[in-house]
Amino acid sequence: MCDSINYKLFINGAWRLGRNGADLPFLNPATEHEFGRVAVASASDLDDALTSAQVSLLQWSNTPAEERGALLIRAARILKGKIDIAAAALSTEQGKTLAEAKGEYARAVEMLEWNGTHAGKLSAPVPIDEKRMIVPEAIGVVAAFTPWNYPAVLNARKLGASIAAGCPVILKAAEETPSAGVYMIEALQEAGIPPGVVSLVFGNPPMISKHLLASPVVRALSFTGSTPVGKQLAKIAAGNLQRCVLELGGHSPVIVFEDADLSKAAWAISEYKFECAGQSCNAPSRILVARSIYREFLAKLVRAAEKIRVGAPDDPETDMGPMANARRIEAMERLTKDAVDRGAKVETGGRRIGRAGFYWAPTILSNVHPESEVLREEPFGPILTVAPFDTIEEAVEEANDTEYGLASYFFTESPEIQKRMIRSLVAGAVSMNHLKGVSADAPNAGVKQSGYGYEGGVEGVRAFQNLKLVNGVKA
Ligand code: NAD
Repeated sequence: MCDSINYKLFINGAWRLGRNGADLPFLNPATEHEFGRVAVASASDLDDALTSAQVSLLQWSNTPAEERGALLIRAARILKGKIDIAAAALSTEQGKTLAEAKGEYARAVEMLEWNGTHAGKLSAPVPIDEKRMIVPEAIGVVAAFTPWNYPAVLNARKLGASIAAGCPVILKAAEETPSAGVYMIEALQEAGIPPGVVSLVFGNPPMISKHLLASPVVRALSFTGSTPVGKQLAKIAAGNLQRCVLELGGHSPVIVFEDADLSKAAWAISEYKFECAGQSCNAPSRILVARSIYREFLAKLVRAAEKIRVGAPDDPETDMGPMANARRIEAMERLTKDAVDRGAKVETGGRRIGRAGFYWAPTILSNVHPESEVLREEPFGPILTVAPFDTIEEAVEEANDTEYGLASYFFTESPEIQKRMIRSLVAGAVSMNHLKGVSADAPNAGVKQSGYGYEGGVEGVRAFQNLKLVNGVKA
């Protein structure tokens, strides 16, 4: 466990308090007590970050891409050496288990490495024919906003892609989980990032986003968070025509067909769902099961959920820690009550655990009325709904019956059904016979109200580049 700490802003190559001296507390969600404090950026701190980013742009975007890549790889190595201490801080601030936090940091290191390894290739001219070529260029200063659920991975993904593309980046990390931003920036600083290329700010999120996006210096924004906030930011960004990468909410279905390996499906769903106490945008939330196997599968899923050991995040026996904040507990209470009031049956869980800490039991609801809030709103917590279906058409219709379109999953051994599902499920990612999240080497994006613009892989770097068409030059 870490001692109480104070985190600063990082602007123009230096750690400092905000100009007005203000700070904010953040909690340990396992105890609900204050764990540390984080400095608050004022408008003039943000102006400093904008100026230093603008000043660094010319030099950074003209630094050979291989050098930028080498710096990212050095930073990845430095971060790797600090995983134990960084993961302990993340686990205490966020509530995820220590094992989950270490796993998250391992993926964050991969994100930095991947972007570092590919920076050179992705900045090289791309010939079209003998007389034309595409020259990728840095889009300019990026404003990045990351949430509290996977702060290490999301910081690494946004910073890695921006830095590889040659863009200075101002990161507004989540005030509730500040250490992931601090460890990441320290690693970049130790690796030799020039002043101004990265800034780290905390404070009042609407004030910060409005201020940064009002500046024509910012040419792109990358936001991960809720759909309503993503829409607000896209509206502000329209004023300066800043390019948006928006990774927003999800409400992901899993379809379990009657030929599926039921035990494998139940364990896979339970394991993936209850990671990070269900606070993942890709987490499955609506399970649709062929009626012929419905009872048998439900029993297996309930058994798997009841095996999840809920407890202190630093206890090695714990599978699932507390939720990150009181807002999520209130949401779990509201969604469960609304579903039960409309006739849902609580198969397991459905309640808060203990008096201290934001602990919510792994919950499975059946017989959920279609108008229930839990089927419309992203649950973002350890609640699963389960329902039977009779035909493939019905399963597909129900799976797609949401405003979101981030991830969809299905379990079947039938090649015909697999092909049909890949075609029919409306989502940014479709996975069969297992559940998988984001990786460094593949693009990830939502459709419908889950956002637009790619993160990860080649497309993640391209999101922060302009592709200049050059005519008449021998490539
Ligand atoms: P929220 O929408 O207020 O905040 C989500 C994140 O966005 C936070 O990190 C917050 O600091 C930031 N944010 C909020 N307003 C902002 C603004 N105007 N400008 C810039 N950043 C802003 O909600 P919350 O209570 O923190 O989380 C609840 C909901 O957010 C969840 O139900 C879920 O739908 C969504 N969420 C999604 C993801 C994801 O990975 N897609 C991550 C976290 C939260």
